[in-house]
This record gives sequence, C-alpha cells and structure tokens, in this order.
Amino acid sequence: APVLQVSAVGKTFAGGTVALQSTDLQVQENDFITILGPSGCGKSTLLRMVAGLDTPTGGSIALDGKQVTGPGADRGMVFQSYTLFPWLTVLQNVCFGLREKGLPLAEQHAIARPFIAKVGLSQFEHHYPKQLSGGMQQRTALARALANAPRILLMDEPFGALDHQTRELMQELLLGIWEEERKTVLFVTHDIDEAIFMANRVVVMSARPGRIKCDLPVPLAHPRH
Ligand code: ADP
Ligand code: ADP
Repeated sequence: APVLQVSAVGKTFAGGTVALQSTDLQVQENDFITILGPSGCGKSTLLRMVAGLDTPTGGSIALDGKQVTGPGADRGMVFQSYTLFPWLTVLQNVCFGLREKGLPLAEQHAIARPFIAKVGLSQFEHHYPKQLSGGMQQRTALARALANAPRILLMDEPFGALDHQTRELMQELLLGIWEEERKTVLFVTHDIDEAIFMANRVVVMSARPGRIKCDLPVPLAHPRH
C-alpha cells in the first residue's frame, strides 16, 4: 500500500485562482520524490495540503489509508525559511515536538541527540538559531523534523536560501540520512539539477493551471548507488 495517496486533488483559491487541477500522486515507502516545476505551478500548494496546512477544494489525501484533515506529527515539514523558534536552543528546538507529546526531558534528549549528531551539530546544541549559519539552522530544522519519527518528510525548497556550496553539502547530508533512516521524502524544488540529483522519482508540474505533466523514475546519481 502507498504511504501517501493523493486522489483527484484540486485547489481553487477564493478569488478564483486555480492553483492545482485534479491531481493524482502515489508515494511508496522509501520513495524520494522531487516535485519540479516553474514558480506558480502549485508545488507549495500541493505540499501544504499534504501537510494539512491548506485544504483541497476537491479530491482527497490519505496517509497510510487515513484521510488527512489537518497537520500532524506523522508529517515532518521543512520550509525554506528554517522556521526555528528563536528563543530556543538547537537542543530545545529539536525536542519541541517530543516535549509537546509529554515525554520526560531525559527521554526527549535521548531521542534528540542522535539526530543532532547526524546533522553534525553536537557541538552546538546549546546555541540559539541567531548564532548559527543558514546551513546550520536548516540542519537543526531537519533534525527537528526527523526527531518526531514522521511517516513522510515534506520539504519545500529547503535549500533555496543557501549558497551553492552549502546547498550541495545539504543535499549529500539529506541523501545519506534518507538511506540510513529509510525515510519517505516529498521534496519541492524549481532547481532541475537538484531535482534530478536527489530523487528516485521526479514529478514535473506545469502552470496555468497547475498540473502534473509527467512522473519519471530516475536512477540515483548519488555515489553510494
Ligand atoms: P509554486 O509553489 O509552484 O511556486 P504555489 O503553490 O505557491 O506555486 O502557487 C500556485 C498558484 O496559486 C499561483 O498562481 C499562486 O499565485 C496561487 N496562490 C498560492 N497561494 C495562494 C493564496 N493563499 N491565495 C490565492 N492564490 C494563491
Ligand atoms: P522549567 O519550567 O523548569 O523551565 P520545563 O519543563 O518548562 O521546566 O522545561 C524543561 C526544559 O525544556 C528546560 O531546559 C527548558 O529550557 C526547555 N524548554 C522550555 N520551553 C521549551 C519549549 N517551548 N520547547 C522546548 N523546550 C523548552
């Protein structure tokens, strides 16, 4: 069974903009799917609806066969703008969802620290976001998303604000984690190189109105494959 089933999902915004035409997408366990397309083709809208941050005006979205009706810890979200809590340290940011679940502090730390180590920030766990570079902030956001053990990782142009070299490092880091953790990833980008490098499937969308034009299997270019 697919992890994620998007069935005939459409989105028309108040005012009449058709952001997404009836769209179907099946995401299988351990897929790394990049969604590629020009600005305005509905990539973010699609991802936000899967995240439960926006509601489709048609069709349905199911995660593990269960209808998506709002946000949930089963979907880990990483945005371009990092969205860390500025008043919390790296460790506290990564613990945030675990704390919300009511886990005792020692257990929060025991879960969070291996993810902080995985993204290379063990030396920085007591730093605040403003003390970190953009790449380090995004590594914190990635660790925070992973710490909640989501069924699927949803990433909206996560490396779009980073310089070229940092972006390539982050791509390598994410691919390594994807392999180790056996994660399922849906990753939005308008960068063709990134889309092809990262994925085992590239979904290409076009605008006016937004729709999926093709869905291509891609041999992984990563050195480890
Ligand atoms: P992409 O992520 O591919 O750049 P978006 O999903 O952000 O595209 O936007 C798709 C279309 O929907 C665009 O025409 C955009 O202007 C429109 N749109 C996005 N969000 C809203 C909104 N909240 N209200 C009205 N129109 C929106
Ligand atoms: P206290 O009231 O003594 O701060 P808490 O249970 O509120 O105890 O906090 C336990 C730990 O979590 C502390 O190290 C605190 O700094 C940290 N913390 C406080 N607020 C948050 C938050 N919103 N998210 C994550 N960690 C937090």
